[in-house]
Amino acid sequence: MNVPIALAALQKQAAEPARLREIPYNYPSFSDREIVIRLLGSASWDVLDQLRKERRTGRSARMLYEVLGDIWVVQRNPYLQDDLLDNPARRKLLVEALHHRLAEIEKRRTPADDAGRDRLVGELVVAARRAVTEFDAKFEQATQLRRQIQRTLGRLTAKDNIKFDGLSRVSHVTDATDWRVEYPFVVLTPDTEVEMAGLVKGCIELGLTIIPRGGGTGYTGGAIPLTWKSVVINTEKLEAMTEVEMRRLPGMDSEVGTVWTEAGVVTQRVADAAERAGFVFAVDPTSAEASCIGGNIAMNAGGKKAVLWGTALDNLASWRMVTPDAQWLEVTRLDHNMGKIHDVETATFELQYFEADGKTPVRTETLAIPGKTFRKEGLGKDVTDKFLSGLPGIQKEGCDGLITSARWVVHRMPSTRAPCAWSSSATPRTRCPASSRSRTTCSPSKNARACCWPASNTWTTVT
Ligand SMILES: Cc1cc2nc3c(=O)[nH]c(=O)nc-3n(C[C@H](O)[C@H](O)[C@H](O)COP(=O)(O)OP(=O)(O)OC[C@H]3O[C@@H](n4cnc5c(N)ncnc54)[C@H](O)[C@@H]3O)c2cc1C
Repeated sequence: MNVPIALAALQKQAAEPARLREIPYNYPSFSDREIVIRLLGSASWDVLDQLRKERRTGRSARMLYEVLGDIWVVQRNPYLQDDLLDNPARRKLLVEALHHRLAEIEKRRTPADDAGRDRLVGELVVAARRAVTEFDAKFEQATQLRRQIQRTLGRLTAKDNIKFDGLSRVSHVTDATDWRVEYPFVVLTPDTEVEMAGLVKGCIELGLTIIPRGGGTGYTGGAIPLTWKSVVINTEKLEAMTEVEMRRLPGMDSEVGTVWTEAGVVTQRVADAAERAGFVFAVDPTSAEASCIGGNIAMNAGGKKAVLWGTALDNLASWRMVTPDAQWLEVTRLDHNMGKIHDVETATFELQYFEADGKTPVRTETLAIPGKTFRKEGLGKDVTDKFLSGLPGIQKEGCDGLITSARWVVHRMPSTRAPCAWSSSATPRTRCPASSRSRTTCSPSKNARACCWPASNTWTTVT
């Protein structure tokens, strides 16, 4: 409940509505101050602020704001940008109109009245003219860069995986934070893992800032472009995966359940595969129906099951990534403890680097990290230390490379039920035989044995 407002105060407010934003079309999450600084520079904001305080800005100030608003609305709207890129004549008219308005401000200058103030207005007009020229030139630059990107990357992926259209750019401007800074210049949606090294190399050569992206559910803004010359590499088509495969991992005595997935696989699909085989996938963020494996590794995601088996970090057997030098890097955990990584004295990883062809070895390194350094004592999830003793990929939010695939360990849920008493004579069925309802009995089936649990009175398959 609010304190009642006196009627007189309300009437006063109605008579003098305060305009929070004077620049037209300024609806997004930027203040007028930020827009002026972005378009004209911070010195211009100081000048403008000084003139505004004098409250004598009037028509000229409004015209300046209109010029900034027109530039701003185009910069914030990829559909308008596309339209102006496709229609040079329309663009020319817009730029002429902007210059015309600045000329009108010039005409209204009165140096004889107040030379100091006039000098400040002159500085603003010069800065605004520069902004209009840059705005115009940006279209030519964009046209050239689009051509270069198509030429360079078009040799490495299908042409329609290179997306400049408004919808693709709008869809990749933000993540779950809803923070928006810059639209990506281009969005790539490669079809296969093998394309990735070449694309990373090509993007670096083109001077683009690379942002890998999974489901866009990140809460730290890691997938948000901060510069106009950025490329988002969307991994959504990398969705190959296996069912649970029993594997003897390096340094282990026996086989354990594992699942191999590409980076774009939705987290829940891995949990489903594990469940189908009677296992549990420990990485279970609440966003599991939307987040992807690559994002899970890059954010070291975890959920409720972190209490039992830790987060992504603890459950990776190996992963593959492309470094910013466009080399392939395969990271393999040795002597996996099938539990929380901070419980081991030393966690050891083998790092194998290959050329962009994926075959020519470059070097191999071993990284031995004391287990207790992975997270602060008592914490199941701790993402504060991004460096993690230099362990690549994990918790780096895409800054040190692009993760393309991974092999995970999966677990058996610890049972609180009575131990299974093996009985070779019994046959699997859906309901327990009456004779076994008071105790646990088991029977062999094709690949597994089925147990009758008294608590549920049903047969359950255990492998
Ligand atoms: C409703 C909701 C609930 C959530 N619950 C949890 C939770 O319980 N536990 C938890 O840990 N998190 C949770 N999160 C946060 C988020 O879902 C996770 O961090 C998830 O791992 C992000 O995955 P993503 O595919 O959506 O990544 P994105 O948002 O696409 O990207 C996140 C970061 O990872 C990088 N990245 C993505 N893919 C790759 C790749 N292939 N290679 C390299 N870098 C890459 C991006 O550049 C970015 O920096 C939640 C988020 C939401 C919206």
